[in-house]
Amino acid sequence: MKVNVAFLTTRDNRGDPQIGDCIVITFDERFAEVQRKACIVIDGGYTSSKVALKNYLALEQIKIIDLMVATHIDNDHISGLKAFLIDYVKEKNGRKNKFELRNYWGPAPKAFEPISITEFASYIPDANDLGIEELSFISQSVDENEKLYDTVKEILAENHIFYPSVRVRDYIPEIFESMAIDILAPDKQIPDDKIKGQRLKEASLGDDLVFDLEIDLTDAVLKEKVNAAALENNRTANNQSIVIKLTPLDDNGQRIASCTFLFTGDAEKESWEFMIPRWGSELESELLKVSHHGSRTGTNEAVLQIVKPKYCIICAGKNRHGLPDEDVLKMIDEKNLKIFCTGRNPKVGESPCTGNRILRKCPRWDNVNKKHIKETIIFEVDTNAPAMTYSGNPCGFKRRNVP
Ligand SMILES: [Zn+2]
Ligand SMILES: [Zn+2]
Repeated sequence: MKVNVAFLTTRDNRGDPQIGDCIVITFDERFAEVQRKACIVIDGGYTSSKVALKNYLALEQIKIIDLMVATHIDNDHISGLKAFLIDYVKEKNGRKNKFELRNYWGPAPKAFEPISITEFASYIPDANDLGIEELSFISQSVDENEKLYDTVKEILAENHIFYPSVRVRDYIPEIFESMAIDILAPDKQIPDDKIKGQRLKEASLGDDLVFDLEIDLTDAVLKEKVNAAALENNRTANNQSIVIKLTPLDDNGQRIASCTFLFTGDAEKESWEFMIPRWGSELESELLKVSHHGSRTGTNEAVLQIVKPKYCIICAGKNRHGLPDEDVLKMIDEKNLKIFCTGRNPKVGESPCTGNRILRKCPRWDNVNKKHIKETIIFEVDTNAPAMTYSGNPCGFKRRNVP
C-alpha cells in the first residue's frame, strides 16, 4: 500500500510562509464501493491556505475527503478549513462544489461562534477600566465572523457525519479498512465556551490580526491585557488538540508497526503529561509532526524518547513568534533525526538531505506552477517495500548534496 503524507506550506495573506498546520494524507483503500484513494485532511492553516489545500487535492485527484480533523480552534489550524468548507465544499445554488466531505472531527461549530462583548470583557482582567469603546471595537470585528460561523455550522452539522470534540475514550466507528486511527488526546473535553476566550488571540497578535480580522490594537495597555488573557486561553486550546496516530494495516488487518505517523496538533506539556504515562510505547512513531510549531512547551526530551521518531516535521515558516524554538531544533538535531520545516529559515540542521533517505525534487511539481504548494513536503511511503523509503521536497532548506 502506498501512503502519501503532505505537509503543505501555510502562508499568511501576504504570501509569506507562516506557522500553521495543513496536512493531507492519501492512501490506497479497499472501500467496498469502489477502489479509490482515501483522504484525510488534518488542519488547514490560515485562511489563504484553502488554495494550497484545494490545489493539492486536485493534483492528487481527490474528490472525496473521508475525514477532516480540526485539531483545535486556533486560527493557524482552523481558518483555512473554514474557508475551504465555505468555498469548495458548500453546495452553491444547487450545484455541487468540488469536494465532498464524509467525516469531521473537531471543535463543535459552537466554538466558532463569535463572543459577546460581555463575554469578551470577562476574559480580560480589569476590563472595566478599558472603556466600552475599545471593547466594542474589538468585539464588533470578531462579530464579522458570524456569517462564516453560520455557514460552517450548516455544512458540518447538516450535511455530514459529525463527531465534534472527539476524545480518547469516545467510540468512533471505523472509517478505513487499511488504516488504523488511534485518538491519543485530549483526555478531557473542556466545554467550548470555556475555551472560546481563545478568540481573543485573534484580536491580540498585532501583525497576525491583519490576516484574519483586520484589527489593530494600538492601545498598548489594552494590547498587553488582551495578550495576557489570550496566552492563558491559548494554552487551554492547544492542550485540547486532537492527537492521532495513523498505522497502515496489511491485507490481514494487522498493523504495520514500522510505518507509523503521529500528528500532535499544538499539544503542549500538559497534554504530553497525560499521553506519556497513558500510552507509553504506543506513542512510538516513525514520523512525528512536531507539536506546536516546535515550541519548547510542545517538545522536550521525554517526548522524543518515547516517540522515537526518525523524521520530524515542523509546520512553521518565518514568524514573529520565534518558532521553532532554537532549543527544540538543537534537541532534535543532536539525535541526528531528520528535520523538515514547511517554511524557510531553519536555524539548525542546514540540510536534511543526507542519510539513506531518497530525496528528490518531485517531478510532478515542475508542471504545477502554483506558488502556494511548491514548498510542500511530501513523504511517500510504500508499506510493501523491504525498507521503507520516503521522498520529500523540503524546498525551504538550503541543500548541500541532493542525491
Ligand atoms: Zn498552531
Ligand atoms: Zn494552537
